[in-house]
Amino acid sequence: MKTVSFVPEMHESDEPGDREEAVAYFTMEIGLTAEIPTYSGGLGVLAGDTTRAAADLGMPMIAVTLLYRHGYFRQQLDEDGNQTEGPVEWKPEEVLRPVSKRVTVEIEGREVAVRAWRHTVEGVFGNHVNVLFLDTDLEENDPWDRTLTDNLYGGDLRYRLAQETVLGIGGVKLLEALGLNGNLIYHMNEGHSALLALGLLEQKLGEQGPREVSEEEIDWVRGRCVFTTHTPVPAGHDKFDWNLVARILGPRRTRTLEDLSCRHDGMLNMTYLALRFSRYVNGVALRHGEISSDMFPEYPIDSITNGAAVEMWTSEPFAELFSKHIPEWRHDNLYLRYALRIPLEEMLEAHRQAKQALLDEVARRTSIELDPDALTIGFARRATEYKRTNLLFSDLDRLRRIVKKVGPLQVLYAGKAHPRDEGGKQMIRNVFAAAKELGEDLPVIYLEDYDIALAKYLVSGVDLWLNTPMKPHEASGTSGMKAAFNGVPSLSVLDGWWLEGHIEEITGWAIGDREEVSDPAAERADLYDTLQHKIMPLYYEHPLDYACVGRYSIAYNGSFFNTQRMVEQYGKSAYYQVILDENDGEGSDVERDQHR
Ligand SMILES: *Cc1c(COP(=O)(O)O)cnc(C)c1O
Repeated sequence: MKTVSFVPEMHESDEPGDREEAVAYFTMEIGLTAEIPTYSGGLGVLAGDTTRAAADLGMPMIAVTLLYRHGYFRQQLDEDGNQTEGPVEWKPEEVLRPVSKRVTVEIEGREVAVRAWRHTVEGVFGNHVNVLFLDTDLEENDPWDRTLTDNLYGGDLRYRLAQETVLGIGGVKLLEALGLNGNLIYHMNEGHSALLALGLLEQKLGEQGPREVSEEEIDWVRGRCVFTTHTPVPAGHDKFDWNLVARILGPRRTRTLEDLSCRHDGMLNMTYLALRFSRYVNGVALRHGEISSDMFPEYPIDSITNGAAVEMWTSEPFAELFSKHIPEWRHDNLYLRYALRIPLEEMLEAHRQAKQALLDEVARRTSIELDPDALTIGFARRATEYKRTNLLFSDLDRLRRIVKKVGPLQVLYAGKAHPRDEGGKQMIRNVFAAAKELGEDLPVIYLEDYDIALAKYLVSGVDLWLNTPMKPHEASGTSGMKAAFNGVPSLSVLDGWWLEGHIEEITGWAIGDREEVSDPAAERADLYDTLQHKIMPLYYEHPLDYACVGRYSIAYNGSFFNTQRMVEQYGKSAYYQVILDENDGEGSDVERDQHR
């Protein structure tokens, strides 16, 4: 196994030509560890898990993101579930290493200085992926410019567009300053970083100043960019009013964007910008790819289904179990297929330990002692309306009857609502209200301040992972994958990844049908029916059979819905294959295979 060390300013084994082109992965947020609070949810955790898998595979990659000195936010909930937000206390200087190169980016006519910090992700074989965190908090900058890398998804549209300018254009310039341009494939993780295309174009045009951009120059940029869209509904795509664009980016860039027909309905739509400048585009699950193709019929859109990083999300008891029965699991997640050889009794014991660790953590945080023998349901994700946090509570009487008839249930919730998402905040209050009403009949706990550390406990320690998104809003979803690594089956609406991972009563259970749009009444009824007649009887009367569902979750879903497989697919379909296509002209599949 060759070692690839891709460290800017440390070109130990960095010999161009002896390896494939490196990937510059641009992302507005990234979830690496609980100590680096620069993520809000699934998009960021996916980015972090992507760098982990790239490091595992020795794929040369460098990630670019923003620093966020105040993180996303710290969530506090009062006794009625009212959320208040505080800044996250962290000292980047203590967690990250400084990068000496600096660049400037023009924003509102001012030259804004940008520096960077570095975190290194290490893979199973000791290969590295570096993550660069751009930072504008420098003395020479204007007071407002200094705040640009303070808050993730905070501030108004002016603030956001300025941030995206720092990320896209500043990121491209910094990589150039580090001597890395010319040998990079630029991956836009969602449209937030689409201005990198403009940055590349400026790089190409050089000092020549404003002039018409030729098709060849556009192709040059397109040849270098790939784009992953994550949002299945039009409202979710970043858009900026043209006046704001002119103000932030200045007349020259605005004219270029206009010349390149990047103005849609008087707005700069970051998804269209990314589509226009990417040679390869994908959605994050099969269904999501189809929906994106319908939304943007003028562009070919492929699908690469998301994953999660197996080692990152596997609890210690299961990691030990895997090491005992499947020693290859860390370096090649495909081997999880052989989880089928793990004795069910050992599965049960490992899960008992993971569950106890979760219940201990709950007791430490809330002083509430939950019952280790009660079927424990987990629901943790961003609190926003389409996730329907309260679907389980739509009929409290029915829930009470189920518990009386079949056995005890307890539910653990977690998730932050965006500070301006009133609907999301209301859902948290609704969970608190339901918890009060249910009282001792069915303990419900909403844990504060959902983050990576808490997610690790939850996805591994509960008995059932619940997901109730309104279709077709869940582009992929990843927390159910993390649960699967730990032998925790899902009960979920058939949207996103679950359409691909679900085999009824084998890997878990479905809520509702496979139609593209939700039928809320049918899904409510199905949720209760499935719990009462399928899941709870299995859990209480046939624990080994229940563990068997967990084992299939690992074998069928853990072996596939992981970021090692996902990054390999990006390698084959997005990063490297397409270059061969272009070079080979009309090359047949066979020729391409030989080339690989
Ligand atoms: C995995 C994860 C998410 C994403 O969960 P979904 O099921 O995709 O909504 C969000 N937040 C944290 C902290 C996570 O670990």
